[in-house]
Amino acid sequence: MNDKIAVALTDNAAMRIYAAVTTDLAAEAQKIHKTLPLATAALGRTLTAGALMGAMQKDEDVSLTIQFKGNGPLGTLVVVADSKSRVRGYVQNPQADLPLRPDGKIDVGNGIGKSGYLSVIRDLGKGTQPYIGQVEITTGEIAEDLTYYYATSEQTPTAMSLGVLVDRDYTVKAAGGYVIQMMPGWSPEDEQIISAIEKRLGEIPPVSTMVDKGYSPEEIIGELFGEEIPYHILKEETPEYKCNCSKKKVEAALISIGKKDLSSLLEDNGTEVNCNFCDKIYKFSTQDIEELIKKCTK
Ligand code: ZN
Repeated sequence: MNDKIAVALTDNAAMRIYAAVTTDLAAEAQKIHKTLPLATAALGRTLTAGALMGAMQKDEDVSLTIQFKGNGPLGTLVVVADSKSRVRGYVQNPQADLPLRPDGKIDVGNGIGKSGYLSVIRDLGKGTQPYIGQVEITTGEIAEDLTYYYATSEQTPTAMSLGVLVDRDYTVKAAGGYVIQMMPGWSPEDEQIISAIEKRLGEIPPVSTMVDKGYSPEEIIGELFGEEIPYHILKEETPEYKCNCSKKKVEAALISIGKKDLSSLLEDNGTEVNCNFCDKIYKFSTQDIEELIKKCTK
């Protein structure tokens, strides 16, 4: 596994950056969901965003859900991340396909759709009401939409870049991303850093190209800050694709649908439940269902 996230802070503490190499986890998602390149790119970008945004959370027990509900052929796309950058996700239509854009790139924008909603749900896992932020989808390109989300919902100047390179055999060749964010309390004197970074952003290669060339997250940060912005590395995380489903959780979900609906499953000689996130199949025999019915309260 080469996947890694590195976190750096400028020496004047005005700006932080998270850079990620996520090739393995994007490849894992492609294998699980048997996605075609359009969905591979969309899901890989959003999983990378999830890994980055998970690492940005202060609260250890947080669960972060990113949901794109656009009007494009991919349908709904969901990614869930935790503070350790463990991510999982799925896309409604993994086999959706569109012609490449005129510039030869995968058309993620039209795959997600130019109209619809991006929701970010932050659940602190303490039984409190989750915080839900929602913005309209602007480009469907994922990174731009999340940047817009940060600007409007969280009012924090943020720039995000995400990239997935798909190989000719439809496997993931390279995936990665970075997010740059101003720290609370940054002062107007820090404008200098912003303009320096904006200049760098226009000069450096796309993040997927850097990952494909073998750049580590630290080297991506080095490209972004260059020589002129002094910074130091704060920490590293290892992102991974990880589902937390279990037979117990599926049982609880079945019990919650109630006696009547469960009983109807008896006539079908039991049932199979497929996990959306990892495609694992949980089988329930007629006998299993009878046991579950006994536990129903409604
Ligand atoms: Zn699962």
